[in-house]
Amino acid sequence: MNIVLLGAPGAGKGTQAAFIQNKYGLTHIATGDIFRANIKGGTPIGKLAKSYIDAGKLVPDEVTCEIVKDRLVNGEVGKGFMLDGFPRNVFQAEELDKFAKVDLCVNIDVDKALLMDRICGRRMCSCGATYHVSTLNGATTCAKCGQPLYQRADDNPETVGARLDTYEAQTAPVANYYRAQGKLFTVDGGSGTPEQVFAAIESELDKYLK
Ligand code: AMP
Repeated sequence: MNIVLLGAPGAGKGTQAAFIQNKYGLTHIATGDIFRANIKGGTPIGKLAKSYIDAGKLVPDEVTCEIVKDRLVNGEVGKGFMLDGFPRNVFQAEELDKFAKVDLCVNIDVDKALLMDRICGRRMCSCGATYHVSTLNGATTCAKCGQPLYQRADDNPETVGARLDTYEAQTAPVANYYRAQGKLFTVDGGSGTPEQVFAAIESELDKYLK
């Protein structure tokens, strides 16, 4: 089964992706992670992507679509893939339909005010764990693996505003694209705990992956 995880920055896509991967074994492919790895490695793609990411804008479609196509067509996806952060606009969704089959779009819906607080207070660990400053009690290392926590370069108030505007203008319409195909499942990602949000997603995925 192949799924697309849709949701604004801070909606909890990464957290839910970890739950989904753990239970169903889908291969997690996050375009933001691919770009950050390229920036860290100083590759030509990283150099190009950085200016867009720092400005809260989308990396050009031709670059992003090519990366995803190469990963899905030439790479191993095992039981199926779970795309996180792609497609980011309707053009990318149309392109994806040309080289892969999407079974379901899981849309995590969260109020904008809450997103701002979540992203600006987000702290990450390179092991994949994420935290919010409000629950860290001043801790600066990961409770799971002990490595130092860091803040993503684009998780600052200036860039977050632009990212949320980009989401509303370009990415939110992707939900309608999948709704029209009868593939949209929307879950409230703002009122429950991460486990409760996952329980709702699980009830849908179990219909396909029991
Ligand atoms: P994310 O980790 O998904 O929040 O992505 C971080 C940044 O990477 C975004 O703000 C974009 O600048 C860029 N990015 C990630 N995925 C895409 C995509 N599908 N299309 C264009 N840019 C993307």
